[in-house]
Amino acid sequence: MKPAPFDYQRPHDLKEALSLLGKAGHSSKIIAGGQSLGPMLNLRLVEPELIVDISALAELKVAERRGDELVLGACITHADIEDGRVPDATRGAMQQIAANIAYRAVRNRGTLGGSLGHADPAADWISALAALGARVRLTSSTGTRLLDVESFVVSALESALRPGEIIETIHVPARPASAQWGYFKSCRKTGEYAHAIAAVVIDPPAATARLVIGAIEAAPIVIKNPLELFGGRITGDYKERFDPQVADTMLAKAGIADAAQRHIHVNVLKRAIRGAAA
Ligand SMILES: Cc1cc2nc3c(=O)[nH]c(=O)nc-3n(C[C@H](O)[C@H](O)[C@H](O)COP(=O)(O)OP(=O)(O)OC[C@H]3O[C@@H](n4cnc5c(N)ncnc54)[C@H](O)[C@@H]3O)c2cc1C
Repeated sequence: MKPAPFDYQRPHDLKEALSLLGKAGHSSKIIAGGQSLGPMLNLRLVEPELIVDISALAELKVAERRGDELVLGACITHADIEDGRVPDATRGAMQQIAANIAYRAVRNRGTLGGSLGHADPAADWISALAALGARVRLTSSTGTRLLDVESFVVSALESALRPGEIIETIHVPARPASAQWGYFKSCRKTGEYAHAIAAVVIDPPAATARLVIGAIEAAPIVIKNPLELFGGRITGDYKERFDPQVADTMLAKAGIADAAQRHIHVNVLKRAIRGAAA
């Protein structure tokens, strides 16, 4: 199938892009790498009157450390991160994620902003960035706002983006040396979207843990009370203290009704925790 006819604009700067999007509102769509929007257009799942191509905007390719956080423009590609062309504040966690998204041709074009904007719960960045505590800066011609990644994703293929808004930058807190990182995704074969994801940041000296369950056909689950999973405390032996039964109960309460699905998610979580401890 071919896309329905649309107008195409390639603005020179962010201001011009925001003006175009502001005027067109609901009838416009942003394109960055086109890896997800392309198929959506071809299948006529979206039929915008105007497509605004942001891939040339220098403002969206910023990549710098600002104090305790890493600021990455929305048009940074997975390959930019995989190849280390942008600074890292996550001690390699983001590089590991980028290198395992799809295959190289997709990573060359696919962007951070596009991945979040598409809001596919199975996308790697949604779970990984939620675990890293990242925030998304949304900009329109009338102002900006900063949202946690987990609040930005509302449900499958639905984000908090309002008409006229653009994801400008992604803000990732620096990962302390004591915070251990684990990520595991279960896919039928390499390069395919995951059907279960777990991303964890566990910091025994600080006695904190941030655990995310993703690819659940909804916004990722950020486990609010992680202590319960580890028998009430987070210490260096957390791998041994992890209780899969408690995790299963938490996921049931979070709305995953199917026991087989919960079993997969709990085991994926267990592997991410083991990965962090390794
Ligand atoms: C074969 C294949 C396999 C894939 N496998 C994986 C995988 O295993 N894991 C994974 O995580 N991803 C996977 N992807 C997705 C890929 O990684 C891209 O990140 C993703 O397609 C979107 O990035 P993009 O830049 O191409 O966005 P686009 O396709 O250009 O846009 C996607 C959506 O985001 C919106 N958008 C884009 N940029 C912005 C912005 N700055 N502000 C607001 N909205 C914006 C667009 O309007 C559109 O709705 C796969 C894609 C393909 C084609």
